[in-house]
Amino acid sequence: MDQEPLPVSVDPDVCVGSGDCARVAPAAFEVSDEGLSVVQEGARTTDRSLLENAVRDCPTGAITLIDDASGAPR
Ligand code: SF4
Repeated sequence: MDQEPLPVSVDPDVCVGSGDCARVAPAAFEVSDEGLSVVQEGARTTDRSLLENAVRDCPTGAITLIDDASGAPR
């Protein structure tokens, strides 16, 4: 079954586990026990504007929005 890609990704090499993303969009991000943000299925139904806020608020630039049409980072 083809599944649409998640609309956002986190680079685990860049994330420092600050948790800002999970505070901005708690349905879309969860900080794991390892201290890394993990994108949740709820990201699919999270407002784009909230995801954009999470990208903006991430202190290390670890979050990438995925383009709807192409599935490519933008
Ligand atoms: S805001 Fe950025 S650095 Fe902080 S937990 Fe989220 S992805 Fe990681």
